[in-house]
Amino acid sequence: MSDRDRLTDLIQSARRVVAFTGAGISTESGIPDFRSPGGVWSRMKPIYFQDFIASEDRRREAWSRAFSGVAGWTGAEPNAGHHAVARLVAQGKITAVITQNVDNLHQDSGVPDAQVIELHGNASYAACLDCGLRHELADLKGPFLEDGRIPTCRACKGLVKTAVISFGQPMPEAAMARAEAETLACDLFAVLGSSLVVYPAAGFPLLAKRNGAQLVIVNREATEQDAYADLVLHEEIGPLLSGIAPPH
Ligand code: ZN
Repeated sequence: MSDRDRLTDLIQSARRVVAFTGAGISTESGIPDFRSPGGVWSRMKPIYFQDFIASEDRRREAWSRAFSGVAGWTGAEPNAGHHAVARLVAQGKITAVITQNVDNLHQDSGVPDAQVIELHGNASYAACLDCGLRHELADLKGPFLEDGRIPTCRACKGLVKTAVISFGQPMPEAAMARAEAETLACDLFAVLGSSLVVYPAAGFPLLAKRNGAQLVIVNREATEQDAYADLVLHEEIGPLLSGIAPPH
């Protein structure tokens, strides 16, 4: 039996599948892996959360980057891999998508918000750091670019920041708790395009495995957790999943 057939079997016989996605699913949409050569952190220094809070200059720099799209995180379209995941969600097979990505492409491909768990936030909108109110980037862009106004909350005047989790920023507690609950409830945990090096996110596959779930890793390169997986495929995600969950 081919590895592809084994993956099909594992998905078909599973009751609850959690998909855990990383940069590898979105590189197929043209979004660069931010840790790779040519990725954003090889071109510019990250702005740490504490510096964003402390320094107006750093906030101005952060917003310049956000509105120039220089990080390349937004503006892409979901690819065949995202669409196949969305079909498996619609079929009730995948119960939750835990993602390390901030590009909103799972939601753009039709996965309901409630079933996407974002461990590193979302770059496609902003939020107030004090009251949490959501702000749309489109509403903040004009005043910043035309008048140099650094965004503040329209409700409480607090600092507004894109909804990504920056370096130095605490992990989102609610998302981490939901991810853990889904991980412990699944019987198949499928890593799709993560090299599993960024913790604590990378702890979920082994948590699932220790809890008795089957573990599948699909990633172009080998990962440190391949040895623990029941099945490993070093393949592109889009073509692979399109064959397993084809469009009607
Ligand atoms: Zn506020």
